[in-house]
Amino acid sequence: MSAGPGGRPTAAAEPFDAARVAADLQRRVGVRTERDAPLAPHTTMRVGGPADLLLTVHNAFELRAALRFARARGIPHLVLGRGSDVVVADAGVRGLVILVRADGLDVAGERVTAEAGVQMARIATRSQGAGLTGLEFALAIPGSIGGAVWANAGAHDGEIAGVLAWADVVGPDGMETRLAASDLAFGYRDSRLKHPAPGVPPDIVVAAAFGLASDEPAAIRARLEEIKAWRRAHQPLGIPSAGSVFRNPPGDSAGRLIDAAGLKGRRVGGAVVSERHANWILNDQKGTATDVRMLADLVAATVRDRLGVDLVPEVEFLGDWPEPWASGGLDR
Ligand SMILES: Cc1cc2nc3c(=O)[nH]c(=O)nc-3n(C[C@H](O)[C@H](O)[C@H](O)COP(=O)(O)OP(=O)(O)OC[C@H]3O[C@@H](n4cnc5c(N)ncnc54)[C@H](O)[C@@H]3O)c2cc1C
Repeated sequence: MSAGPGGRPTAAAEPFDAARVAADLQRRVGVRTERDAPLAPHTTMRVGGPADLLLTVHNAFELRAALRFARARGIPHLVLGRGSDVVVADAGVRGLVILVRADGLDVAGERVTAEAGVQMARIATRSQGAGLTGLEFALAIPGSIGGAVWANAGAHDGEIAGVLAWADVVGPDGMETRLAASDLAFGYRDSRLKHPAPGVPPDIVVAAAFGLASDEPAAIRARLEEIKAWRRAHQPLGIPSAGSVFRNPPGDSAGRLIDAAGLKGRRVGGAVVSERHANWILNDQKGTATDVRMLADLVAATVRDRLGVDLVPEVEFLGDWPEPWASGGLDR
């Protein structure tokens, strides 16, 4: 078994030998890796320990080759985009972490094609420059194309499902398939990529294409400016966070519930519930992953006790968590 649900590494058939995997990756795929590499700088929450082995891939070819390599050998591995929807455990991640920086971007007619590591903000501005509308919402999302397809990321009345033409994914066996949007079972912040079969490595996006429409660049720019202004006015930007921590329950807003439960400003160590947007946990005082998770648990338990609603995390807690989280914790 090489990776568990959500891509979290699980016990490999053999112990993970970082030195050997590093040497094999260099010889067979031609890429360099880093041992015991801190992951906090690669996440927007800025917490978490090291990866046993970190591989940064700079193009789709390297991403495909690294996935095939790991999957053919049952090597535990996990893919990270911009780390804007995850909280990495303080003990870090065992096995190989593949950091996706494949950033090829191409515009042809009304179609924009991007490798998985392209930043959402970049595809928004590039589309605007080409006079194409449909991806303005991407400006607001600090993730990569791969992470955005995984999450069906969305904002400001747009979401990936509304514009995706296809995604090329590498499957558990290392083979690549082109999936149409209709194959991805998109839902509210959800896709089929989030639900691999138990014990099976998840599909990984290598590239995606978006079908857009022509519009005046100035009109598109005005919409981008509106999104920027809205974000500045309503969100605590510039402080480490992972955006919204919990999913909105049907017909309600997690932020409204957390506020109603009196939790704004609640703190555990260096992590605090934002005063500006109650569904955001900020790491405003160099907190740890444990601070963040304990605070998320406290928020969920308080909302359950006071308002009778079970909040479900939107962020992913990745890596080597201690008990009680290792065996399921409060929410997993
Ligand atoms: C300040 C802030 C604001 C935010 N606002 C929004 C918002 O408005 N709307 C919204 O939807 N989200 C928002 N988010 C959340 C986040 O940006 C999105 O979910 C984003 O799509 C995650 O992409 P990522 O590259 O950072 O993924 P990561 O955090 O790196 O990874 C998240 C998951 O995706 C998987 N993954 C990463 N790359 C791939 C790939 N190539 N193929 C398959 N799986 C992959 C990882 O294995 C992991 O399980 C916000 C986050 C922050 C910090």
